[in-house]
Amino acid sequence: MVPTRVTCYRAPHTVCDVDEIADWLDDRVTASVDVRDRFLDVHHADAYVDVFAKARVHSPTDPATGSNMYGIRRYEERVLADPERSGGVLYDGITVQRGLNAAIPAGERSLDHLHVAFLDRVIGTWGDHDGRWHKRVAVLGQPALISVPGLTEAPAKPEAYYKHKQQSAMLTGDTPPREVLEGALKEGFLREDDPRTTEALKGYALAAVHVLATGQAFCDVEHCRLANPHRHGGVIEAQLREPQFCPKHTAEYA
Ligand SMILES: [Zn+2]
Repeated sequence: MVPTRVTCYRAPHTVCDVDEIADWLDDRVTASVDVRDRFLDVHHADAYVDVFAKARVHSPTDPATGSNMYGIRRYEERVLADPERSGGVLYDGITVQRGLNAAIPAGERSLDHLHVAFLDRVIGTWGDHDGRWHKRVAVLGQPALISVPGLTEAPAKPEAYYKHKQQSAMLTGDTPPREVLEGALKEGFLREDDPRTTEALKGYALAAVHVLATGQAFCDVEHCRLANPHRHGGVIEAQLREPQFCPKHTAEYA
């Protein structure tokens, strides 16, 4: 189904400029594109504490998620009220997506009206094939979830990053601050709060519409905005370098 309306939700606690992404998207799809404030504020639901407590991943290799412990629920309450305090927690993207879907007003829930929620949380999906969690930039569906910190955390960093980290650790006997490492290798990957964040997330927003319209999530051509690269270098190639699209998707979206 080709959606006729797409609503994007801002991520005010991040560097991502969702209005710019929505403008870009509006120029490329037939749907009308509008922007609202943060999803969790616009569609307010008491159940969010449960949703995030239930979605919390315990360990990279444990498929079970969630905790009803008082401390966890208190933490989630605090982070919902004050997102600046979040960090370091991975959430199951499918559970979060289900929870957010339930919060969309019934009249807006059909796939004719796609919602794209930009989030300040790190999300992942369980890999049945290798028995571990994988962080994701995007979990497509209704709503599509796009994780702004996921852009930094999900793709693998360049080999040089890990090597440099190892060498520095050997020299100083301690792991140098992340800023040092990331500064040294600035061009090779996207840092936290990278100024290229907005540009780099445009293709993921388009993928959210594209999968509904075509049933195909991502494109196999590496340099295409609709590709789904597993490494930072691939994200830079796909989202930040010309040409924007493969020939097929140039015809559709350029
Ligand atoms: Zn393509």
